Amino acid sequence: MKITNIIAYPVWVGSRNQLLVKIETDKGFFGWGESGLSGRELGVKGIIDHYREMLLGVNPFEIGKIWQRLYRSQYFEGGRTLTAAISAIDIALYDLKGKALNVPVYELLGGKQRDMVPTFATTSAAPGPEMIEQGKQLIDKGWQAFRLSLSPDGGEGKYESIVTKSIKEDNIYEPRESLAKTAHWIIESRKELGNEVSLGVDMHHRLSVAEAASFCNKLPNGTLDFIEEPIRDQAPGAYEALRKMTNIPFAIGEEFASKWQFMPFIENDLTQFARVDICNIGGITESMKVAGWCESHYIDMMPHNPLGPVCTAASLHFGVSVPNFAWLETRYSASENQGFHYLTDKNGDEIFNLSHKMKGAMHHVSDEPGLGIEVNEDYLKNSEFKSWNAPQLHRTDGSVTNW
Ligand SMILES: [Mg+2]
Repeated sequence: MKITNIIAYPVWVGSRNQLLVKIETDKGFFGWGESGLSGRELGVKGIIDHYREMLLGVNPFEIGKIWQRLYRSQYFEGGRTLTAAISAIDIALYDLKGKALNVPVYELLGGKQRDMVPTFATTSAAPGPEMIEQGKQLIDKGWQAFRLSLSPDGGEGKYESIVTKSIKEDNIYEPRESLAKTAHWIIESRKELGNEVSLGVDMHHRLSVAEAASFCNKLPNGTLDFIEEPIRDQAPGAYEALRKMTNIPFAIGEEFASKWQFMPFIENDLTQFARVDICNIGGITESMKVAGWCESHYIDMMPHNPLGPVCTAASLHFGVSVPNFAWLETRYSASENQGFHYLTDKNGDEIFNLSHKMKGAMHHVSDEPGLGIEVNEDYLKNSEFKSWNAPQLHRTDGSVTNW
Protein backbone atom coordinates (compact mmCIF):
# COMPACT_ATOMS: atom_id res chain seq x y z
CA MET A 1 0.00 0.00 0.00
CA LYS A 2 1.21 3.50 -0.80
CA ILE A 3 0.22 6.99 0.31
CA THR A 4 -1.28 8.82 -2.67
CA ASN A 5 -2.45 12.09 -1.11
CA ILE A 6 -2.43 14.16 2.09
CA ILE A 7 -4.99 16.95 2.37
CA ALA A 8 -5.08 19.57 5.14
CA TYR A 9 -8.39 21.26 5.91
CA PRO A 10 -7.96 24.31 8.14
CA VAL A 11 -11.64 25.26 8.44
CA TRP A 12 -14.14 26.81 10.82
CA VAL A 13 -16.24 24.11 12.48
CA GLY A 14 -18.72 25.05 15.18
CA SER A 15 -17.08 27.78 17.27
CA ARG A 16 -13.46 27.44 16.20
CA ASN A 17 -11.06 26.55 13.45
CA GLN A 18 -10.04 22.93 13.25
CA LEU A 19 -7.12 21.62 11.24
CA LEU A 20 -8.17 18.20 9.97
CA VAL A 21 -5.89 16.05 7.84
CA LYS A 22 -6.84 13.21 5.52
CA ILE A 23 -4.37 10.64 4.20
CA GLU A 24 -5.37 8.59 1.16
CA THR A 25 -3.84 5.44 -0.32
CA ASP A 26 -3.80 3.52 -3.58
CA LYS A 27 -5.85 0.72 -1.96
CA GLY A 28 -8.77 2.99 -1.14
CA PHE A 29 -8.09 3.10 2.62
CA PHE A 30 -7.87 6.52 4.23
CA GLY A 31 -7.41 8.00 7.70
CA TRP A 32 -8.22 11.23 9.55
CA GLY A 33 -6.06 13.20 11.96
CA GLU A 34 -6.24 16.54 13.74
CA SER A 35 -3.63 19.10 14.63
CA GLY A 36 -3.71 21.08 17.88
CA LEU A 37 -1.85 24.35 17.43
CA SER A 38 -4.99 26.46 17.82
CA GLY A 39 -4.79 29.92 16.31
CA ARG A 40 -1.85 29.03 14.05
CA GLU A 41 -3.51 26.49 11.74
CA LEU A 42 -2.27 28.05 8.50
CA GLY A 43 1.34 27.70 9.64
CA VAL A 44 0.81 24.03 10.40
CA LYS A 45 -0.90 23.50 7.04
CA GLY A 46 2.26 24.83 5.38
CA ILE A 47 4.31 22.15 7.12
CA ILE A 48 1.80 19.45 6.15
CA ASP A 49 2.13 20.55 2.52
CA HIS A 50 5.90 20.12 2.80
CA TYR A 51 5.45 16.68 4.36
CA ARG A 52 3.00 15.64 1.64
CA GLU A 53 5.78 15.78 -0.93
CA MET A 54 7.97 13.55 1.24
CA LEU A 55 5.29 10.96 1.95
CA LEU A 56 3.76 10.32 -1.47
CA GLY A 57 4.51 6.68 -2.36
CA VAL A 58 5.51 5.72 1.21
CA ASN A 59 4.08 2.63 2.98
CA PRO A 60 1.52 4.05 5.48
CA PHE A 61 1.96 1.09 7.85
CA GLU A 62 5.49 2.21 8.78
CA ILE A 63 4.16 4.69 11.33
CA GLY A 64 7.18 4.76 13.67
CA LYS A 65 9.63 5.18 10.81
CA ILE A 66 7.51 7.95 9.25
CA TRP A 67 7.51 9.77 12.62
CA GLN A 68 11.30 9.62 12.77
CA ARG A 69 11.63 10.76 9.17
CA LEU A 70 9.30 13.74 9.64
CA TYR A 71 10.85 14.84 12.93
CA ARG A 72 14.45 14.51 11.75
CA SER A 73 14.10 15.29 8.05
CA GLN A 74 15.28 18.84 7.78
CA TYR A 75 18.40 19.01 9.97
CA PHE A 76 16.58 21.45 12.32
CA GLU A 77 14.68 18.97 14.46
CA GLY A 78 11.31 19.39 16.05
CA GLY A 79 9.52 22.50 17.28
CA ARG A 80 5.84 22.82 18.04
CA THR A 81 4.72 23.73 14.51
CA LEU A 82 6.40 20.63 13.10
CA THR A 83 5.09 18.34 15.82
CA ALA A 84 1.54 19.71 15.46
CA ALA A 85 1.73 18.66 11.80
CA ILE A 86 3.35 15.32 12.67
CA SER A 87 0.59 14.70 15.23
CA ALA A 88 -2.17 15.00 12.65
CA ILE A 89 -0.33 12.75 10.20
CA ASP A 90 0.48 10.17 12.88
CA ILE A 91 -3.14 10.02 14.10
CA ALA A 92 -4.40 9.69 10.51
CA LEU A 93 -1.94 6.84 9.89
CA TYR A 94 -3.25 4.97 12.95
CA ASP A 95 -6.84 5.50 11.78
CA LEU A 96 -5.91 4.24 8.33
CA LYS A 97 -4.00 1.20 9.62
CA GLY A 98 -6.83 0.22 11.97
CA LYS A 99 -9.33 0.38 9.12
CA ALA A 100 -7.03 -1.55 6.78
CA LEU A 101 -6.53 -4.32 9.39
CA ASN A 102 -10.18 -4.09 10.51
CA VAL A 103 -9.30 -3.43 14.17
CA PRO A 104 -9.88 -0.47 16.48
CA VAL A 105 -6.77 1.63 17.10
CA TYR A 106 -6.49 0.43 20.72
CA GLU A 107 -5.69 -3.06 19.37
CA LEU A 108 -2.63 -1.55 17.68
CA LEU A 109 -1.53 -0.13 21.06
CA GLY A 110 -1.49 -3.39 23.01
CA GLY A 111 -5.21 -3.72 23.63
CA LYS A 112 -7.54 -2.34 26.27
CA GLN A 113 -6.28 -1.87 29.81
CA ARG A 114 -9.61 -0.54 31.10
CA ASP A 115 -13.26 -0.88 30.16
CA MET A 116 -14.02 2.84 30.10
CA VAL A 117 -12.14 6.14 30.04
CA PRO A 118 -12.91 8.44 33.01
CA THR A 119 -13.20 12.15 32.24
CA PHE A 120 -12.85 15.39 34.15
CA ALA A 121 -15.08 18.39 33.53
CA THR A 122 -14.71 22.14 34.14
CA THR A 123 -17.12 24.61 35.68
CA SER A 124 -18.05 27.51 33.42
CA ALA A 125 -19.57 29.95 35.90
CA ALA A 126 -17.24 32.52 37.42
CA PRO A 127 -15.99 31.85 40.96
CA GLY A 128 -19.07 32.35 43.16
CA PRO A 129 -22.23 30.55 44.29
CA GLU A 130 -23.20 29.50 40.74
CA MET A 131 -19.85 27.77 40.29
CA ILE A 132 -20.51 25.74 43.43
CA GLU A 133 -23.97 24.83 42.10
CA GLN A 134 -22.37 23.61 38.88
CA GLY A 135 -20.00 21.52 40.97
CA LYS A 136 -22.95 19.88 42.69
CA GLN A 137 -24.55 19.17 39.30
CA LEU A 138 -21.36 17.58 38.05
CA ILE A 139 -21.12 15.33 41.10
CA ASP A 140 -24.77 14.45 40.61
CA LYS A 141 -24.09 13.44 37.01
CA GLY A 142 -21.18 11.22 38.01
CA TRP A 143 -18.04 13.35 37.79
CA GLN A 144 -15.46 12.53 40.42
CA ALA A 145 -13.01 15.15 39.23
CA PHE A 146 -13.34 18.62 37.80
CA ARG A 147 -11.65 21.98 37.50
CA LEU A 148 -13.10 25.04 39.16
CA SER A 149 -13.14 28.37 37.36
CA LEU A 150 -10.38 30.93 37.50
CA SER A 151 -11.43 34.54 37.88
CA PRO A 152 -9.84 36.88 35.33
CA ASP A 153 -11.48 39.68 37.21
CA GLY A 154 -9.99 43.10 36.71
CA GLY A 155 -10.96 44.27 40.14
CA GLU A 156 -14.41 45.75 39.81
CA GLY A 157 -16.06 43.13 41.94
CA LYS A 158 -17.98 41.42 39.18
CA TYR A 159 -16.83 37.87 38.51
CA GLU A 160 -16.30 36.77 34.98
CA SER A 161 -15.12 33.50 33.53
CA ILE A 162 -12.63 32.62 30.84
CA VAL A 163 -14.60 29.48 30.14
CA THR A 164 -17.73 31.40 29.19
CA LYS A 165 -15.50 33.75 27.18
CA SER A 166 -16.95 36.74 28.98
CA ILE A 167 -13.59 38.33 29.52
CA LYS A 168 -13.86 42.05 30.03
CA GLU A 169 -13.74 43.96 26.82
CA ASP A 170 -10.49 45.61 27.72
CA ASN A 171 -8.91 42.17 28.35
CA ILE A 172 -7.30 43.13 31.65
CA TYR A 173 -5.96 40.36 33.87
CA GLU A 174 -4.69 41.39 37.29
CA PRO A 175 -3.26 38.28 38.94
CA ARG A 176 -3.36 39.40 42.56
CA GLU A 177 -7.02 40.39 42.45
CA SER A 178 -8.00 37.33 40.47
CA LEU A 179 -6.13 34.99 42.80
CA ALA A 180 -7.66 36.37 45.99
CA LYS A 181 -11.17 35.88 44.62
CA THR A 182 -10.44 32.50 43.09
CA ALA A 183 -8.88 31.23 46.34
CA HIS A 184 -11.85 32.42 48.39
CA TRP A 185 -14.38 30.56 46.24
CA ILE A 186 -12.26 27.43 45.94
CA ILE A 187 -12.18 27.20 49.73
CA GLU A 188 -15.96 27.66 49.81
CA SER A 189 -16.35 25.02 47.09
CA ARG A 190 -14.39 22.43 49.04
CA LYS A 191 -16.55 23.04 52.11
CA GLU A 192 -19.74 22.57 50.11
CA LEU A 193 -18.68 19.80 47.72
CA GLY A 194 -17.04 17.54 50.29
CA ASN A 195 -13.77 15.67 50.37
CA GLU A 196 -14.51 12.80 48.00
CA VAL A 197 -14.40 14.74 44.75
CA SER A 198 -11.03 15.67 43.19
CA LEU A 199 -10.84 19.42 42.63
CA GLY A 200 -8.37 21.37 40.52
CA VAL A 201 -7.91 24.72 38.85
CA ASP A 202 -6.19 25.70 35.58
CA MET A 203 -4.04 28.82 35.90
CA HIS A 204 -3.38 28.95 32.15
CA HIS A 205 0.32 29.67 32.87
CA ARG A 206 -0.41 33.29 33.79
CA LEU A 207 1.52 33.62 37.03
CA SER A 208 5.01 34.31 38.28
CA VAL A 209 6.53 31.88 40.79
CA ALA A 210 5.78 34.33 43.61
CA GLU A 211 2.15 34.82 42.54
CA ALA A 212 1.63 31.08 42.21
CA ALA A 213 3.13 30.47 45.64
CA SER A 214 0.91 33.17 47.19
CA PHE A 215 -2.15 31.58 45.64
CA CYS A 216 -1.29 28.06 46.78
CA ASN A 217 -0.56 29.28 50.29
CA LYS A 218 -3.96 30.95 50.61
CA LEU A 219 -5.49 27.46 50.45
CA PRO A 220 -5.61 25.17 53.50
CA ASN A 221 -3.87 21.80 53.00
CA GLY A 222 -6.02 19.41 50.98
CA THR A 223 -8.22 22.07 49.37
CA LEU A 224 -6.98 21.32 45.85
CA ASP A 225 -6.01 17.96 44.37
CA PHE A 226 -4.14 19.55 41.48
CA ILE A 227 -3.15 22.92 40.10
CA GLU A 228 -2.71 23.09 36.34
CA GLU A 229 0.00 25.17 34.71
CA PRO A 230 0.47 27.84 37.40
CA ILE A 231 3.51 29.20 35.54
CA ARG A 232 4.93 29.02 32.01
CA ASP A 233 6.77 25.83 31.22
CA GLN A 234 10.05 26.66 29.49
CA ALA A 235 11.98 26.72 32.77
CA PRO A 236 11.81 23.45 34.74
CA GLY A 237 13.94 25.12 37.42
CA ALA A 238 11.12 27.57 38.12
CA TYR A 239 8.85 24.62 38.82
CA GLU A 240 11.51 23.19 41.14
CA ALA A 241 11.41 26.48 43.05
CA LEU A 242 7.60 26.45 43.22
CA ARG A 243 7.61 22.81 44.32
CA LYS A 244 9.46 23.87 47.47
CA MET A 245 6.74 26.41 48.27
CA THR A 246 3.60 24.24 47.96
CA ASN A 247 2.52 20.62 48.26
CA ILE A 248 -0.36 20.82 45.74
CA PRO A 249 0.17 18.28 42.92
CA PHE A 250 0.97 19.84 39.53
CA ALA A 251 -0.72 19.05 36.20
CA ILE A 252 1.65 20.15 33.43
CA GLY A 253 2.39 19.35 29.81
CA GLU A 254 -0.39 20.38 27.43
CA GLU A 255 2.00 22.69 25.60
CA PHE A 256 4.84 20.20 25.25
CA ALA A 257 5.79 19.38 21.70
CA SER A 258 7.90 16.24 22.23
CA LYS A 259 9.01 13.67 24.77
CA TRP A 260 12.11 15.79 25.26
CA GLN A 261 10.09 18.67 26.66
CA PHE A 262 8.49 16.25 29.10
CA MET A 263 11.88 14.82 30.06
CA PRO A 264 12.93 17.17 32.90
CA PHE A 265 9.41 17.23 34.34
CA ILE A 266 9.27 13.42 34.47
CA GLU A 267 12.86 12.75 35.44
CA ASN A 268 12.76 15.30 38.28
CA ASP A 269 9.20 14.37 39.33
CA LEU A 270 8.05 17.95 38.74
CA THR A 271 4.59 16.99 37.55
CA GLN A 272 2.18 14.54 39.11
CA PHE A 273 -0.29 14.51 36.19
CA ALA A 274 0.89 14.55 32.55
CA ARG A 275 -1.36 16.80 30.46
CA VAL A 276 -0.23 15.29 27.15
CA ASP A 277 -1.93 16.76 24.05
CA ILE A 278 -2.07 14.05 21.42
CA CYS A 279 -2.52 16.64 18.62
CA ASN A 280 0.59 18.60 19.63
CA ILE A 281 3.07 16.21 21.25
CA GLY A 282 3.57 14.19 18.06
CA GLY A 283 0.47 12.01 17.84
CA ILE A 284 -0.25 8.58 19.24
CA THR A 285 3.33 7.42 18.65
CA GLU A 286 4.85 10.09 20.89
CA SER A 287 2.04 9.96 23.48
CA MET A 288 2.63 6.25 24.07
CA LYS A 289 6.33 6.91 24.71
CA VAL A 290 5.55 9.70 27.18
CA ALA A 291 3.04 7.44 28.93
CA GLY A 292 5.61 4.69 29.31
CA TRP A 293 8.14 7.10 30.72
CA CYS A 294 5.53 8.51 33.11
CA GLU A 295 4.61 5.01 34.23
CA SER A 296 8.16 4.49 35.46
CA HIS A 297 7.70 7.53 37.74
CA TYR A 298 4.12 6.66 38.84
CA ILE A 299 2.75 9.71 37.01
CA ASP A 300 -0.79 9.42 35.63
CA MET A 301 -1.85 10.66 32.22
CA MET A 302 -4.48 13.41 32.12
CA PRO A 303 -4.78 14.32 28.42
CA HIS A 304 -5.57 17.81 27.16
CA ASN A 305 -8.62 17.53 24.87
CA PRO A 306 -10.06 20.92 23.87
CA LEU A 307 -10.28 20.36 20.12
CA GLY A 308 -12.63 18.41 17.87
CA PRO A 309 -13.96 14.84 17.78
CA VAL A 310 -10.90 13.44 15.99
CA CYS A 311 -8.72 14.57 18.91
CA THR A 312 -11.20 13.06 21.35
CA ALA A 313 -11.31 9.75 19.49
CA ALA A 314 -7.49 9.51 19.33
CA SER A 315 -7.26 10.42 23.04
CA LEU A 316 -9.80 7.72 23.91
CA HIS A 317 -7.86 4.98 22.13
CA PHE A 318 -4.72 6.19 23.87
CA GLY A 319 -6.46 6.43 27.24
CA VAL A 320 -7.92 2.97 27.12
CA SER A 321 -4.55 1.44 26.19
CA VAL A 322 -2.21 2.76 28.91
CA PRO A 323 -2.02 1.54 32.51
CA ASN A 324 -1.34 4.93 34.15
CA PHE A 325 -4.38 7.07 33.51
CA ALA A 326 -6.31 9.63 35.59
CA TRP A 327 -8.92 11.45 33.51
CA LEU A 328 -9.47 12.70 29.96
CA GLU A 329 -10.53 16.34 29.63
CA THR A 330 -14.07 16.68 28.30
CA ARG A 331 -16.00 19.74 27.13
CA TYR A 332 -19.18 17.71 27.17
CA SER A 333 -20.55 18.02 30.68
CA ALA A 334 -23.35 19.35 32.82
CA SER A 335 -21.46 22.62 33.35
CA GLU A 336 -20.49 23.48 29.78
CA ASN A 337 -22.70 24.20 26.84
CA GLN A 338 -20.07 23.43 24.27
CA GLY A 339 -21.03 19.79 24.15
CA PHE A 340 -20.77 18.16 20.79
CA HIS A 341 -22.29 21.13 18.99
CA TYR A 342 -19.60 20.74 16.38
CA LEU A 343 -20.95 17.36 15.34
CA THR A 344 -23.63 19.09 13.32
CA ASP A 345 -23.85 22.52 11.74
CA LYS A 346 -26.66 25.02 12.27
CA ASN A 347 -28.68 23.39 9.51
CA GLY A 348 -28.51 20.04 11.25
CA ASP A 349 -26.12 18.54 8.73
CA GLU A 350 -23.81 16.02 10.27
CA ILE A 351 -20.14 16.98 10.26
CA PHE A 352 -18.81 14.11 12.36
CA ASN A 353 -20.20 10.74 13.23
CA LEU A 354 -18.66 9.58 16.49
CA SER A 355 -19.16 5.95 17.50
CA HIS A 356 -17.82 6.51 21.06
CA LYS A 357 -20.56 7.25 23.59
CA MET A 358 -20.41 9.01 26.94
CA LYS A 359 -22.31 7.69 29.92
CA GLY A 360 -22.16 10.18 32.77
CA ALA A 361 -18.50 11.00 33.28
CA MET A 362 -17.31 7.80 31.59
CA HIS A 363 -16.45 7.42 27.94
CA HIS A 364 -17.05 4.08 26.28
CA VAL A 365 -14.61 3.35 23.47
CA SER A 366 -16.16 1.85 20.38
CA ASP A 367 -14.95 -1.30 18.65
CA GLU A 368 -15.27 0.21 15.17
CA PRO A 369 -12.14 -0.16 13.02
CA GLY A 370 -9.62 2.71 13.16
CA LEU A 371 -10.50 5.71 15.33
CA GLY A 372 -14.23 4.98 15.08
CA ILE A 373 -15.16 8.31 13.56
CA GLU A 374 -16.58 9.45 10.24
CA VAL A 375 -15.92 12.89 8.81
CA ASN A 376 -18.16 14.65 6.30
CA GLU A 377 -15.48 15.75 3.86
CA ASP A 378 -17.92 17.62 1.63
CA TYR A 379 -18.74 19.82 4.61
CA LEU A 380 -15.04 20.60 5.09
CA LYS A 381 -14.59 21.32 1.37
CA ASN A 382 -17.36 23.89 1.57
CA SER A 383 -16.12 25.50 4.81
CA GLU A 384 -13.67 28.33 5.17
CA PHE A 385 -10.94 29.34 7.54
CA LYS A 386 -11.81 32.29 9.77
CA SER A 387 -9.18 34.53 11.26
CA TRP A 388 -9.10 34.10 15.05
CA ASN A 389 -6.65 35.01 17.79
CA ALA A 390 -6.68 34.14 21.47
CA PRO A 391 -7.62 37.09 23.72
CA GLN A 392 -4.62 39.40 24.12
CA LEU A 393 -4.57 39.96 27.88
CA HIS A 394 -2.75 42.80 29.57
CA ARG A 395 -2.46 44.31 33.00
CA THR A 396 -3.90 47.62 34.12
CA ASP A 397 -0.51 49.25 33.54
CA GLY A 398 -0.58 48.16 29.88
CA SER A 399 2.00 45.36 30.06
CA VAL A 400 1.49 42.06 28.23
CA THR A 401 0.39 38.93 30.04
CA ASN A 402 -0.56 35.46 28.84
CA TRP A 403 -4.07 34.34 28.01
MG1 LIG B 1 -4.86 23.95 30.58
